[in-house]
Order: sequence, then C-alpha cells, then structure tokens
Amino acid sequence: MDICTDVLIVGSGVAGLYAALNLSSRLNVTLITKTTVDECNTYLAQGGISTARNKQDEPLFIDDTLRAGVYKNDINAVKVLAEESMDNIENLVNYGVAFDLCENGYEYTREGAHSVNRIVHCADETGRKVFEALWASVKKKKNVTIYQNTELIDIIRQGNICCGSVTISNGKILNIHAKATILASGGIGGLFKNSTNQRTVTGDGIAIAIRNNIALKDLEYIQFHPTALYEVSPHKKRFLISESVRGEGGKLINSKGERFIDELLPRNVVANAIYEEENRTKSPYVFLDISAMKGEFIVNRFPLIYSECKKRGIDITKQFIPVTPVQHYFMGGIQVDTFSRTSMENLFACGEVSCTGVHGANRLASNSLLEGLVFSRRAAKFINDNIHSIDIKITQSSLGLDEVQELKRENRSLAINKFKLLVEDKADELVSC
Ligand SMILES: Cc1cc2nc3c(=O)[nH]c(=O)nc-3n(C[C@H](O)[C@H](O)[C@H](O)COP(=O)(O)OP(=O)(O)OC[C@H]3O[C@@H](n4cnc5c(N)ncnc54)[C@H](O)[C@@H]3O)c2cc1C
Repeated sequence: MDICTDVLIVGSGVAGLYAALNLSSRLNVTLITKTTVDECNTYLAQGGISTARNKQDEPLFIDDTLRAGVYKNDINAVKVLAEESMDNIENLVNYGVAFDLCENGYEYTREGAHSVNRIVHCADETGRKVFEALWASVKKKKNVTIYQNTELIDIIRQGNICCGSVTISNGKILNIHAKATILASGGIGGLFKNSTNQRTVTGDGIAIAIRNNIALKDLEYIQFHPTALYEVSPHKKRFLISESVRGEGGKLINSKGERFIDELLPRNVVANAIYEEENRTKSPYVFLDISAMKGEFIVNRFPLIYSECKKRGIDITKQFIPVTPVQHYFMGGIQVDTFSRTSMENLFACGEVSCTGVHGANRLASNSLLEGLVFSRRAAKFINDNIHSIDIKITQSSLGLDEVQELKRENRSLAINKFKLLVEDKADELVSC
C-alpha cells in the first residue's frame, strides 16, 4: 500500500512527539513507531531535564556541557541548547508537565559535572510524565495520523533527495511518500547485551544512513552509565539507578566500604573508575550507599527506584545498591546542523539518532531530553517555513515483502558490524547479527 503525507515522523519519543506538536496544523503529518507509542527511551528517563536557571546561568551551563564533552562539542549547537532551554521547559509546563516545585519555584536537582543545581524533574519519573503530556497533546491534533507497529526499513530517495520511506506496518509493506521526513528513531542500546535502553531501539536510523550514504558523526562516542542495577539475570533491560541519586548525596563504595571516586565527576570518568575498581576487587559490581538519606526522603524522592529495587528484593532504605556500568546513550549519530538538516535534502534527524555535536565525547547528565526538545522544534519550524517549496515525484516501489524483510536483516548486521569496529574493547558487549 502507498500513502502520501506532507511530513513523515519516525519515532514516538520526545523528539518525534514534540516535532509533531510544533509542525503547523495546516500540514498533514504521519507519525510511525516501531511497536507501541510508549516503547521508547523517553518513557524511561528518570533524572530530569537540564535547563539554564536564568540568563546569567547560560554561560556556566555552556561551560559545564563543554567540560563534560571533553571540548569535542560543537560550540554553536551548545549555545543554541542553552539559550533555548528555558523556553522549551516553559512549553512543557504549558503542555501539562508538572515539574516538582519548592517555595522558590522549580525544585532543581543536581547531577554529575553540573556546577549548580539546574535539573527540573518529576520525582524520578520525568520521562514518563513528559511522554504522557506530549502524547496526550499529539492525540488531540487532527492533522496527525499515528501508525503503531510500523517499522522504518529504508528511505525512498531520488538521488540525494529523500521522498519518504519504506515500512513494514503490521506485517505488510507500507510505502509513505513525504515532502519532509524527520528521523527521530532514537539510539543504539538494543544492539548491546547490557543496556538501560528499550530493546527495540536498535540503531535502525544509523543503519539506514549507512546504506544511503548519509553523513554520520562521532559514532565512536558511546556512553556507559556508571550505575545500572547489577543483576545476575537481568530482566529485558538493565534498570537504571539515576545519577540524581548521587546528586542527592549517594556515595560509591567497594565491598570493604571504601570510597574510590568523586561521584559527581563526568559519567565517563566515574564509569571508568568503577570498571577499574571491579577489576581490582574481582567483583562484578560496586555499591551505591545512600544510608545518609532518610527513609522517608528516599521513598518520596525516588519512588520508582525504591519500588523497582523492592520488587527485586532490595530495600534501598536499608541496604546498599549493587551497581555496574552498562551502555546507556549514543552521543554520535546522523550529522545535522542546528535546524536538524542532514546531508540528504528533505531529510531531518533529531533526538538521540542525530548528532548535533552538543554532547561532544560525553553527554552532560540530563542534556538529552533537552536536546530532543530544542532541535526537534527547530526542525519543525524550518519545515513550516520551507515546505511550500518542496515538490516530490512519487515513484512506486517494486519491493516485495521478502525483499523488505531481507533489508531489515541487513540493517541489523550493518549496524552491529559498524559498531564492532568502533568499540574494540567492548565488542563482546554487542549482540550478534
Ligand atoms: C533508563 C534511561 C534513563 C534516562 N534518563 C534521562 C534523563 O533523566 N534525562 C535525560 O535528558 N535523558 C535521559 N535518558 C536519555 C533519554 O531518555 C533519551 O536519549 C531520549 O529520550 C531519546 O529520545 P528520542 O526521541 O530521540 O528517542 P526515543 O525516546 O528512544 O524514541 C525512539 C522512537 O523511535 C522508534 N523507532 C526506533 N526504530 C524505529 C524504526 N525502525 N521504525 C519506526 N520507529 C522506530 C521507537 O519505537 C521509539 O518510539 C535516559 C535514557 C534511559 C534509557
């Protein structure tokens, strides 16, 4: 089957949903998502969203982002991120996100490598609250049609112009012809055996970019989060113990109860220190000690972490939490400019699949949801202003279901083989083709 739309959005995380909300209501928008709308990493986000606290905080926020990113960041993109942060947080509030408040306004929390408390949050379930508010608003938009269980397999292109995509929708081929396509298909965690990510987020956008010679950037920059809950038989994905637990005073200790690192250093530094400590002590985990926090505070401030650990037999108001680093985030991706334009005409990428350069070699905590907001809105604005000048030719695809299924298998091996070459020392962490 073939359909035509003005704008195709691939992905229902923060980047995809917020793009849909910022596109003009005059445009016909089609949003596809691989499984159900809520199966995205956005839903899992715990700690919060970074934002400049005020105009005066912007330079310090920029400095913190650059320092954490080992100065490999794109300075222009970082400035855009900081300068547009407050405006986008306000938009979220208008969409109904109820961030935690105190008597002076937002109850800002702290995470590693931030010089000040500047993270807005909804207890430890910020992602779910953001997702629910955005999704409720998208559902009300009459110009947006949603296709769940619809998987992007390849783009349709004429030379270097993107004209839509080939998808498998509920087991059948669906070709979607679009004047503009926004890839918001998330990161690569599902390619790793141990990751905090949804298993279905498998770097499909990256594989499709490789197949179509779309420029990629910083693919070797993969973030391992220092503190996933250590489990002998992990459930579907590794459960994250948010960095905000350390931000609120949690300490990392080894089996002898000794501290071995400043917990609020950038994530790569803390993760490496834990790996070293695990090797030195021949243990597959270290502990997070939150005994200095009162039980009541823990239950109210970290309700999700408290209940998920409890389900697994750990009462974090009384016991240390066993933690270990696992794959968590992808700083690299499809190279884009500050309007989320890729190297292919009419193709945009935003959120974790893209590389704006804001994160450099190591993402500053809680900058990812913000990046998704800032740059998906910029993509939408650019499309609103320019779509009238785009005219695509519709070409019928002759691919059968077997051939499309084969492309899907090829995407998986393209991505796995690419990352195998890039992560050398962690190659055995990747799943097999
Ligand atoms: C456990 C956890 C905690 C986190 N905590 C924080 C935090 O506190 N603060 C912060 O800033 N960041 C946090 N992050 C990172 C952040 O959540 C993600 O980077 C961000 O949500 C990515 O948003 P996105 O819209 O780009 O992708 P996602 O939210 O991952 O959405 C990707 C979407 O694309 C769809 N998709 C994928 N492939 C295809 C395909 N082939 N066809 C169709 N659809 C496809 C998926 O189904 C999904 O809907 C956390 C991440 C995790 C995993």
